[in-house]
Amino acid sequence: MRENVEELLTITNLKKHFPLQKGFLDNLLAKKKGFVRAVDGVSFFIQKGEVLGLVGESGCGKTTTGRLILRLLGPTSGEVLYNGKSIFSYSRKEMERLREKMQIIFQDPYASLSPRMSIGKAIGHPLVIHNNFSKAEIRERCLQIMEKVGLTPASFLYKKYPHQLSGGQRQRVVIARALVTNPDFVVADEPIAMADVSVRAMILELMAQLKEEFDLTYLYITHDLATCKYICDRVAIMYLGKIVEIGTLEEVFKKPAHPYTATLLAAVPVPDPKYRRTHPIPKGEIPSPINPPPGCRFHPRCHSAKSTCSVHEPDLVEVREGHWVACFL
Ligand code: SF4
Repeated sequence: MRENVEELLTITNLKKHFPLQKGFLDNLLAKKKGFVRAVDGVSFFIQKGEVLGLVGESGCGKTTTGRLILRLLGPTSGEVLYNGKSIFSYSRKEMERLREKMQIIFQDPYASLSPRMSIGKAIGHPLVIHNNFSKAEIRERCLQIMEKVGLTPASFLYKKYPHQLSGGQRQRVVIARALVTNPDFVVADEPIAMADVSVRAMILELMAQLKEEFDLTYLYITHDLATCKYICDRVAIMYLGKIVEIGTLEEVFKKPAHPYTATLLAAVPVPDPKYRRTHPIPKGEIPSPINPPPGCRFHPRCHSAKSTCSVHEPDLVEVREGHWVACFL
């Protein structure tokens, strides 16, 4: 199935378990150390030039997955191949060079920009770290990229500070900073979550346009499945540290095969007062990743659960070409 696919990234059985701090009483009673199983064995690939959406509720492990792929976090186990080479085998120096090619757009532009750094300095900062450009060259490159992302007039905004810009402009600054090193791959971590509704479509449109212009590959992380249809080629649905469904945008939207995906799709607002929800919302709350349920992790909330679902864990199996699902149904 994947013979002709040019994979930029191949992620295999990636895990990240964060150890819990033990309290005084736990030490006294010699209790076993607990772990938050943020990412618990995810495998997928990202093709060159595609946009893969990674979708799930808060706390499902999607942001941790993005950070593991960029090696901003070390894994508990598993592998990430970038152009066929393990990123965990790179030396510090090699990793510095690789970071030029793999960038991230953070969720909260206000928090990710220093209030004491002008916009021009913030955008040019990755060039100072990664390259030996002169000050004039850095300024020139910054002004070019500012124009590209719509921060105009660039020479006027160059000396402004984050608090002097609107929310939409700050988001554009973060995008410009990610693109200034001319990367191949960008993790966009909820890039529109903090933006006003009026600028969300503009940001997504800008990202799509920049993808074409710079020949980019994106991992688009979001909790809002509806926004995937504006930018994604394929979608991966994540639940409690695992991928439960992955396929092309069309397949996942038209023929969702996992009850959780169907629930996420049914939760997308429909601008019709007469519309009535046909799919029930999941029971209860998302369980703790410290003690995930046995068997299928979705079984306590699933309306279609059978007795086997609480005992056995379903594997991710291919139900149609390129469409994989982890569900006994
Ligand atoms: Fe529901 Fe069972 Fe499928 Fe899990 S395996 S999603 S519990 S039907």
